[in-house]
Amino acid sequence: MTAKIIDGRKMAAELRDELAERVSRLSGKPHLAVVLAGNDEASLIYDRNKQKAAEKVGMVCDIYHLPEDVLQTELNRLIDGLNQDKNVNGIIVQLPLPVHLDAAAALRRILPEKDVDGFGLYNTGLLWTQGKAFFAPATPKGILHLLKSVSPDLSGKHAVIIGRSNIVGKPLAALLLGCDCTVTIAHSKSENLAALAASADILVAACGCAGLVRKEWVKPGAVVIDVGINRVEGKLSGDVDFDGVCENASYITPVPGGVGPMTVAMLLENTFEAYLQQSKETL
Ligand code: NDP
Repeated sequence: MTAKIIDGRKMAAELRDELAERVSRLSGKPHLAVVLAGNDEASLIYDRNKQKAAEKVGMVCDIYHLPEDVLQTELNRLIDGLNQDKNVNGIIVQLPLPVHLDAAAALRRILPEKDVDGFGLYNTGLLWTQGKAFFAPATPKGILHLLKSVSPDLSGKHAVIIGRSNIVGKPLAALLLGCDCTVTIAHSKSENLAALAASADILVAACGCAGLVRKEWVKPGAVVIDVGINRVEGKLSGDVDFDGVCENASYITPVPGGVGPMTVAMLLENTFEAYLQQSKETL
């Protein structure tokens, strides 16, 4: 078997084009506020990319860049101001924050209806209890789009997710449960990881370990989603040994060009939804 590629770059471009068309029919512009503290190089690049992508679809995206030594009280004050600002539809706090800051407290402070990353307690609780939040986190939401493009009915499938972070593994588990998958979440303490992975119809690698998932870990015909972003000898690579796994999987996402572009597209979609909810405009 040679796996077919799930082209996240193409799908994200199509979604952004659709979004640009819908944004052009609004009376105003959806407005995203990005709060960035410190000078983490990857975060600076991610946020500039989000800003460029937002502007390309006709949205406004402001980056609030705070110094590395900013106090929690100042961060809180900024978030409170953005919560109250009627022009701002969505707020995200770029993680990781400098270590002296309480990231969970910052995320909790964002109003649920502006929490377009969906990382706050209220949206997290809604996702697990109701199966639907104001906003689902962008990376898991993008993964669901990718999966549904090749397997529209996920009901009854066994999904194994390697990684239990609050931004990828756990919210993805909630979304897949909502699609009636049987979900296993594995992590660094899981025993028999290879056997667990090999029992999956859908295998999602989100652990940040380059090439961890090998061909023998993949059931013939499984769909494999590679979330990992690792830099190996200056080159980007995922958590999956792509060439080997292609021999067993039916479909696979590449790195780069798979999950990454979908994450930004989903954030923009959430911001658009926030605008609609707050403005009560309909299209
Ligand atoms: P975290 O570091 O927060 O979580 C990693 C998870 O993987 C943890 O649950 C950890 O287990 C688990 N893990 C680590 N090593 C192993 C191992 N050897 N075997 C099994 N499980 C393991 O990472 P994130 O969830 O934030 O990100 C995961 C990867 O996805 C990273 O490469 C990141 O760069 C990428 N990413 C990509 C995005 C995109 O848009 N493409 C968006 C977000 C992340 P434990 O809990 O026990 O420590």
